[in-house]
Amino acid sequence: MARVVVTGGSGFIGSHVCDSLIARGDEVVCVDNLLTGQKSNVEQLFGNPRFSFVEADVVRDLPVDGDVDLVMHLASPASPPEYLRLPFETLDVSSIGTRRALDLALDRGARFFVASTSEVYGDPLVHPQHEEYWGNVNPIGPRSVYDEAKRFAETLTMAYHRYNGVSVGIARIFNTYGPRLRPADGRVVSNFLVQAMNDRPLTIYGDGLQTRSFCYVSDEVRGLLALADSNETGPMNIGNPCEFTMLELAEIVREITGSSSEIVYEPLPTDDPTRRKPDISRAEALFGWSPKVDLREGLRLTYESYLAQQCHLGS
Ligand code: NAD
Ligand code: UDP
Repeated sequence: MARVVVTGGSGFIGSHVCDSLIARGDEVVCVDNLLTGQKSNVEQLFGNPRFSFVEADVVRDLPVDGDVDLVMHLASPASPPEYLRLPFETLDVSSIGTRRALDLALDRGARFFVASTSEVYGDPLVHPQHEEYWGNVNPIGPRSVYDEAKRFAETLTMAYHRYNGVSVGIARIFNTYGPRLRPADGRVVSNFLVQAMNDRPLTIYGDGLQTRSFCYVSDEVRGLLALADSNETGPMNIGNPCEFTMLELAEIVREITGSSSEIVYEPLPTDDPTRRKPDISRAEALFGWSPKVDLREGLRLTYESYLAQQCHLGS
């Protein structure tokens, strides 16, 4: 049994990480300020004596006493509309917040894991993206508040590893979806599902030919924990390599929901990446990890969770 601190633990991915850690017998301290997360994501764990919830902003404070074996730093807005609405919070949590989480790991002799992102590759000129690629990020564009903050988080993490001897693992997470992705968080999967369920038009930004590779959350969390449990530093791409255009995604969402929603075209956000697909050969070779849930099955499971939340009533 390990004692694990999960920052951002009541967010979408973080809450599934907490579930998996508790299920295998670990003790979890979930630290979250509820900026983009919800307490309801972890309410199923509240009665468990191995789970505790600390409401705190990791930019200001990371109030965890006692032994810690692993710090998993997932706190950060992740949806483009949210990090564009919260630019300074986003910059702070991946810079000052990462430093605070690294200091906790250093102080307790714990391993440190950071949730980085495929956005460190920016609008990639190499396809698919392997971990040696340094990326193509506009440092002054609107998305830079997220992309450059995550790149800085990776740099800080490597500095603690090199200069302070902290054992670290850097995961580069590619687009992840599943139950608990907030229906209103503005990402493409939640937007399309809620629009289709309410017979509203599906909003395609740009021509819809840009691609993403979507990973179901159970596959993602299995990969993240494989890295966290290892001694590997990474960086390590964790994502599903099956690539889809947004038009293809819209078609599959219509098929699964049985919706006849039409498609409307809206302007493409500035610096929106054209293509994105992870090369996962490193994680496959080191951990024998690969995703198992295909897009149709994962979307069906997500759709069912949205039905249970009554998202067809527009919530
Ligand atoms: P999310 O917004 O659902 O979860 C983030 C959580 O962090 C929320 O609960 C939020 O309240 C919390 N948080 C934010 N700032 C905080 C602060 N200062 N102090 C304490 N808590 C804070 O997002 P998510 O999709 O679950 O993403 C989790 C992590 O994975 C993020 O670091 C994100 O950058 C990374 N990531 C996610 C994806 C994806 O597709 N979901 C892709 C790449 C990277
Ligand atoms: N997108 C879209 N319609 C929407 C929301 C997003 O066409 O309602 C596009 C967006 O422009 C991007 C892709 O879908 O090209 C994925 O967007 P998301 O915000 O989910 O994640 P990103 O990979 O951009 O961080």
